Amino acid sequence: MSSPGTTVIGSGIAGVACARALSDAGLPVRVLDRGRAPGGRMAGRTLHGRVVDLGASYFTVGQDSPFAPVVEDWVARGLAREWTDTFSVVGPDGVTDTKTGPVRYGAAGGLRSLVVDLARGLDLVQQRTVEQVRLDGGPTVDGERADAVVLALPDPQARRLLEPGSAPETVLDPRGWQPTLAVALGWSTRRWDADLHGAFVHDDPTVEWLADDGDRRGDGAAVLVAHTTPEFAARHLEEPALAGPEVAETVTRLLGLDAPPDWTHVHRWTFAKPTSPREQAFSLADGIGSCGDGWSAPSKVESAWTSGHELGRELAARLG
Ligand SMILES: Cc1cc2nc3c(=O)[nH]c(=O)nc-3n(C[C@H](O)[C@H](O)[C@H](O)COP(=O)(O)OP(=O)(O)OC[C@H]3O[C@@H](n4cnc5c(N)ncnc54)[C@H](O)[C@@H]3O)c2cc1C
Repeated sequence: MSSPGTTVIGSGIAGVACARALSDAGLPVRVLDRGRAPGGRMAGRTLHGRVVDLGASYFTVGQDSPFAPVVEDWVARGLAREWTDTFSVVGPDGVTDTKTGPVRYGAAGGLRSLVVDLARGLDLVQQRTVEQVRLDGGPTVDGERADAVVLALPDPQARRLLEPGSAPETVLDPRGWQPTLAVALGWSTRRWDADLHGAFVHDDPTVEWLADDGDRRGDGAAVLVAHTTPEFAARHLEEPALAGPEVAETVTRLLGLDAPPDWTHVHRWTFAKPTSPREQAFSLADGIGSCGDGWSAPSKVESAWTSGHELGRELAARLG
């Protein structure tokens, strides 16, 4: 009988990186995800004729990181682009400062396009919501056997699939995750300083970060994306669309714009970020692995890729 291979749950960048490492080692693997397309929290949506990034704003990569060759390849093929190393700081008195850091990368086709690229050639099943993972007598996913199962999704979503006491403690620990709302705001023409790029918002109860979507994507569209504070998001999780006008008013006031946006779109991230990601890259025990940005702190795209990649390599070494 042929081996059923590994089942990865989640086609965010961690799950896809894990599957890529297994596939590159010649091992059978399939990826199941409930979403319509791969990408998870690197998602975007077509709004008013163009894709807007509504999840991660950008990504960074360390010089010696194993992620670096992947990024170099994306840049060489024109999929990823260097965006900026400098953001503004905005407070109640408007733009007060700038802050320089590492190069931040964006993608002309939206960040999701990079995960789609990474997933090319893999056995991916989208729009498949997994209900249950069981470990008694070898791992199964909704009753189907697997050589190993990888949980590549936020802890609270992973815990829903497992019976209490059925998985290693490291996977089941009740780690906290915080929400955010991503609010896209569109104007007919650009009304802010070209040097804005993105802005850390200080001392505001509603918005904590702003990104110039036209600038990061390189098409110059008059679209900003605001990320709300977790506290504001928590109050609007039931009916996120109602938060649009308050966020629009806040952004217009903070940047001193002469007109409110022509349109807004609100996206809810119930589990946007772990409050305290683990230091180790992944866990693997009893045929069940766990990876993603809940591991490999700090929580970001690079860590999620690294976590998935390292788990995939470890699984390949054990199963191969
Ligand atoms: C608003 C926001 C802003 C961010 N900003 C940045 C930033 O600027 N820079 C940065 O580096 N990082 C940023 N991040 C973090 C970054 O997006 C994540 O670290 C990374 O994308 C996590 O990838 P992942 O594969 O671990 O998880 P995810 O991308 O969450 O993938 C998990 C997948 O599991 C699927 N899934 C869930 N439940 C089930 C189920 N029952 N059955 C099947 N599939 C299921 C989901 O559909 C999803 O596709 C941000 C995140 C958010 C939300």
